[in-house]
Amino acid sequence: MSVPFVDLRRQYRSLEKQINAAVLDVLDSSKYMLGDYVRAFEQQMETYCGVRHAIGVNSGTDALLLALKACGVGPGDEVVTVAHSFFATAEAIVLAGATPVFVDIDEATYLMNAELLEQAITSRTKAVIPVHLYGQAADMDVITTIARRHKLFVIEDACQACGALYKGRKAGSLGDIGCFSFVPAKNLGGYGDGGLAVTNNDEFAQRIRVYRDHGSPHKYHHDVVGYNSRLDALQAAVLSVKLTKLDEWNETRRQRAHLYTRLLADSGVITPVEHGLGTHIYHLYVVRSRRRDELMKFLSERGIATLIHYPVPIHRQKAFASAQFGPLPVTERIASEILSLPMFPEMSEDNVREVATAVIEFCRHER
Ligand SMILES: *Cc1c(COP(=O)(O)O)cnc(C)c1O
Repeated sequence: MSVPFVDLRRQYRSLEKQINAAVLDVLDSSKYMLGDYVRAFEQQMETYCGVRHAIGVNSGTDALLLALKACGVGPGDEVVTVAHSFFATAEAIVLAGATPVFVDIDEATYLMNAELLEQAITSRTKAVIPVHLYGQAADMDVITTIARRHKLFVIEDACQACGALYKGRKAGSLGDIGCFSFVPAKNLGGYGDGGLAVTNNDEFAQRIRVYRDHGSPHKYHHDVVGYNSRLDALQAAVLSVKLTKLDEWNETRRQRAHLYTRLLADSGVITPVEHGLGTHIYHLYVVRSRRRDELMKFLSERGIATLIHYPVPIHRQKAFASAQFGPLPVTERIASEILSLPMFPEMSEDNVREVATAVIEFCRHER
């Protein structure tokens, strides 16, 4: 037996007929750019997230970039976020012309430590980007309260948290603008690049719509210099089919995660902590071990695929070598200890047991 990290083919097979029909529909329509399929998916996401506007874009990174632009963030501005995230969170800030400022994370949840947010705010701070990492929402009540006090925009990086809840509301719908990614391995994934921004603000929505299409509100009329960042009709059609299954998939992820957590209790690895303010959808199931590299090798030898999200914190990346950042002790400490175990809704309970048994065997050896 072996356990892959994810199995996208198995998910495709489970919806093959509907997805093939949707794709053929788009091909036959000859409407390949924006148009009805993109609008239909946007409307589905508006309903799903409980927001007034959803705007399909080319990627999660562009959703963040266009959100920052829509808020007027640019050169001279600072944006506070975390260094424990995918690189794109900070990349979007730099692409907007602004400067990222990193605060440390909470040691239990690996999410932004909201208590450190206020001291990171300066007269130049314009926005904050909390990241709902691994599928669990950051503490948005605390973050938005501080942001309002300092008149900062809140842009949620919900790229790993489509369908997650915070106090009954969807991640992404809690700040000024929420950003999603639909790359294939995300918990809602298309078959290529794709992203989306959601907002209740009419002005932000209109700006993002214009930015994504060359700054053009009407064909061949360009009000601003924008981007080529449209969601493909083909991706939208696939995502429309998949969105109808998302809640079911997220629920199965939770069940598999809770089984992992039960089996791994007292094993020696630290299992994920739910903060209890919402619903963690376990885009990733991340454990912590001081012997992480050996554990990874041990599992790999038994045919169990694991990954590290992420081995190098953003502020330690070569791309930021010339910048100065304050110490981020928790971010730095956990980067060498975290390990993502196989997690996808099609994995069986037996798969979970197999992985957990191997982890327990490793820990017993190492004691
Ligand atoms: C995937 C991801 C992104 C970027 O999304 P792309 O669609 O790959 O551009 C940004 N932030 C986080 C936290 C992500 O996981």
